[in-house]
Amino acid sequence: AVALMTTPHDILKQVFGFDHFRGVQEDVVMRVLGGQHTLAVMPTGAGKSLCYQLPAVAHEGTALVISPLIALMHDQIRSANAIGLRAASLTSADADRERTVERLKAGELDLLYAAPERATGDGFRRLISRTNVSLIAIDEAHCVSEWGHDFRPDYRQLKGLLDDNPDVPRLALTATADRRTRSDILTQLGIPDDGLIIAGFDRPNIRYNVRPRDGLPQQLKSLLAQQPGAGIVYAPSRDKAERIAEQMSGTGRPALPYHAGLDPQVRSRNQAAFVESEDMVMAATVAFGMGIDKPDVRFVAHAGIPKSIEAYYQETGRAGRDGDPAEAWLFWGAEDFARARQRVETEVEPDRRSGERERLNALAAFVEASGCRRAILLSHFGEDPPEACGNCDNCLDPPATIDATEVARKLLSA
Ligand code: ADP
Ligand code: MG
Repeated sequence: AVALMTTPHDILKQVFGFDHFRGVQEDVVMRVLGGQHTLAVMPTGAGKSLCYQLPAVAHEGTALVISPLIALMHDQIRSANAIGLRAASLTSADADRERTVERLKAGELDLLYAAPERATGDGFRRLISRTNVSLIAIDEAHCVSEWGHDFRPDYRQLKGLLDDNPDVPRLALTATADRRTRSDILTQLGIPDDGLIIAGFDRPNIRYNVRPRDGLPQQLKSLLAQQPGAGIVYAPSRDKAERIAEQMSGTGRPALPYHAGLDPQVRSRNQAAFVESEDMVMAATVAFGMGIDKPDVRFVAHAGIPKSIEAYYQETGRAGRDGDPAEAWLFWGAEDFARARQRVETEVEPDRRSGERERLNALAAFVEASGCRRAILLSHFGEDPPEACGNCDNCLDPPATIDATEVARKLLSA
């Protein structure tokens, strides 16, 4: 990038076209420009990319961005290039890797994206040692922690690359990290405790609704009948995503499936159709959503339980990014938890099981709660919860049977 001749605000306006920083963006950017290692915990849609893209423009040299998914990187590169940033990636999907290395060596890149598998390799580290690196950004940084909901061993290996570049400012970014995950990220990535910046997690325009599953097709149909706008229905499997897309199309509402089993061309066509549409339903697995820029998603429904409260927050957080009212619906069944528990006991490595069990218990407590949903979510992320938000299902329509259930539960556990 170019030497800093203008203020960060000028760059914000001239390069990115924004009048104001949003929320904690300014604090994060200022720390990074000051050369300080930082962990920024900011909700989905809060604008994390700008926190490393702006310093990448302001500083001489190339900002290295570690990102877990190729599709995500390519999206980011497209939008970075669109505003005149010089961005490229080094992944197995890039045929022009040699050209990218040349551009890097010639100092012609503002941003270089790479997946952790590559970034931790010797060849890459040698390349970087000969590069003027202005910043190392680690996106989706919760992947570094076993406590995080999406642990990736390769993220652990980043330490070598960071040790090679002790004086290059590090910026770790994540949307979802509870207290334990946060302190793990700080330790793993060598960021001081006072380098933590947390943005508010509250999404007051999202109304959270949780219901036991009871004839799902009918439940979804009634939901669609009263719910205008575009929305996502998360299905627990590819088959179910297909089936839900069919059922919803049957109601006359445009609906398409999205999952990793579809042909890549079909997938990107469906995604593009959804982004354009004002009333489409995307019936998808969790493969859908990361990096998709659609501010006017009006609802997100879960046809079965998500993986964790973190995943739930992230997935529902794709609704209402424009700030207008949006709905989150979760339809759950006891069998979802039984299946998830079974999976933990049979598929998860033994030393991670207790963490996964806790995660499921927290989710069970959330779905069965009779109190304010938002309060539970916020306290999960370490924020002071409201007494009652007045805008979730339990606040608007307090369950009448709480007392009887509570009494029965106490009797049973006595
Ligand atoms: P995140 O990675 O935190 O989920 P993104 O970086 O993808 O969020 O940004 C989400 C959206 O917010 C993008 O469309 C981006 O252009 C927009 N955005 C970022 N910063 C600002 C800002 N200061 N003012 C207005 N829009 C912004
Ligand atoms: Mg992002």
